[in-house]
Amino acid sequence: MCSRAEFDFIVVVSGLAGCVLPNLLTEDGKTVVLLLEAGGKDRDLWIWILAGYLKGDGVANPKVEIRALAHRVLTEGKRAIGVEFSQDGAIRQVRARREVLLAGGAINSPQLLQLSGIGPGALLRQHGIDVVHDLPGVGENLQDHCGGRIIYRCTANVWTMNEVYHNWLRRIHHGVQYVLSMKGALMTGAGPMGLFVRTRPELASPDVQYQFLAGSSEKTGEEMHRFPGCTLVAIPCRPESRGWLRIASPDPAQPPAIQPNYLATQADKDTMVAGLKVSRRVFATPAMQQYVTGEYLPGQQATTDEDLLNHVRATAGTTFHQTSTCMMGPGPMAVVDASLRVKGMERLRVIDASIMPTVVSGNTNATAIMIGEKGADMVLHAA
Ligand SMILES: Cc1cc2nc3c(=O)[nH]c(=O)nc-3n(C[C@H](O)[C@H](O)[C@H](O)COP(=O)(O)OP(=O)(O)OC[C@H]3O[C@@H](n4cnc5c(N)ncnc54)[C@H](O)[C@@H]3O)c2cc1C
Repeated sequence: MCSRAEFDFIVVVSGLAGCVLPNLLTEDGKTVVLLLEAGGKDRDLWIWILAGYLKGDGVANPKVEIRALAHRVLTEGKRAIGVEFSQDGAIRQVRARREVLLAGGAINSPQLLQLSGIGPGALLRQHGIDVVHDLPGVGENLQDHCGGRIIYRCTANVWTMNEVYHNWLRRIHHGVQYVLSMKGALMTGAGPMGLFVRTRPELASPDVQYQFLAGSSEKTGEEMHRFPGCTLVAIPCRPESRGWLRIASPDPAQPPAIQPNYLATQADKDTMVAGLKVSRRVFATPAMQQYVTGEYLPGQQATTDEDLLNHVRATAGTTFHQTSTCMMGPGPMAVVDASLRVKGMERLRVIDASIMPTVVSGNTNATAIMIGEKGADMVLHAA
C-alpha cells in the first residue's frame, strides 16, 4: 500500500515498455517513481521479469504497486496531475509532481485516456465522461498482424506438441527431460522456426512472416488436436487495414470494444492469399513431405483464392501485435508528438507500443522495449 501520495513520476504500468522506464528514471538516486501494475500474484512471472529490470537495495524507489488497476488520469484543466486507481477494493489517488507516463500497451493506454476524458469528444459524452480534451485519434488507427494458418497432419512416427499435451506420461517424460538435460518439448518456444518471404520477386523486402508451430488446434487458444499435427502461420508484415478501439463503458474494469478490421483492403487480402500459397509450397517440399500425410486445414478442396479467404475469415486471428492506437506524428489523428507528449495536454506522455505510427514489419516486443528506453531518455532530458 502507498505510504506516500506524491511522486515525481507515476508510470502506468509495467509491461515491456513500462518496465524499463522506472529503472532509467531513478538512476540519479533522487527522482521518486511510482509504478502501478494491474497484474498481481497470479502473474508472478511478469512481476519477476519487471524486478529484473529494477535495481534497488530494498529502498522502495521505484515503488511498485501490484493489483493496482488505473482508473483515470487526474487532471487540472489540461494538465495531468496524478492517477486514480483501485487496489484490493479501495479507490486511491496519487499525485505526480512532474509527469504521468502511460505504458499500458496498445489496448489500455487509449482506453485509459478515453476514461480520463481525453479522446473523441462524441464517444466520451456518449458514456457520460466529461471531455477534458477532444483528441479524435485516441483509439483509432489500430494495427495488428493477422495470422492465417495452414495445418497438416503428421505421420505417426513423429511426436508433435499435440501428443505431448494429451498424454500425461509424455508430459512427465518431457518435464523430467527438461530438468535433467535441458532438452525436449519444454525447451521449445511456441514458434520455434520462422521465415520471412517475398511473395513477389519484384518486392524490395519480405512481405510475409511465417511462424512454424509443432502442434495444431482449430483456432488460436483452442484445445490442441488429438492427432499429430503442425501449423504454418502466414503473417502479412505491413497491413494497410486500420481498426479501432473505443470504451464500451465508463467502468475501467470493462473491456473496450475492439474492431481490428483485418483484411479490409484488397492488397491485404492479396498478400494473405499469396502467403498461404507459399505455406503450401513449403509443405510440398521433400523435406516436409517425409513428416506429413496431408493438409487438414483448409484442405485440398480449397483451391481458389476465395476458398482461401473464406478459410482465413473462419480461422485467422491476432498474433498479439496490436499497436498504433495513440499514434505519434503530425496531423489531426496523431495522439502524441515526437517527444511522446499527449497533444494538447501537459505533463502527460504515452510510452508503449501504441505510439508506433505503423506497426513494425516483424514482432513487436523489441520495438516496445526500445520505445521504453527512448521514452525514458526523452523524459529525463526534458527535465
Ligand atoms: C500472448 C502474446 C504473445 C506474444 N509473443 C510475442 C513474441 O513472441 N515476440 C514479440 O516480439 N512480441 C510478442 N508479443 C507482443 C509483445 O508482447 C507486445 O508487443 C509488447 O508487450 C507491447 O509492450 P507494451 O509495453 O506496449 O505493452 P504490454 O507489454 O502489454 O504492457 C502493458 C501492461 O499494462 C498493464 N495494464 C494494462 N492496463 C492497466 C491498468 N489500467 N492499470 C494498471 N496496469 C495496467 C498490463 O498488466 C501490462 O503489464 C506477444 C504478445 C502476447 C499477448
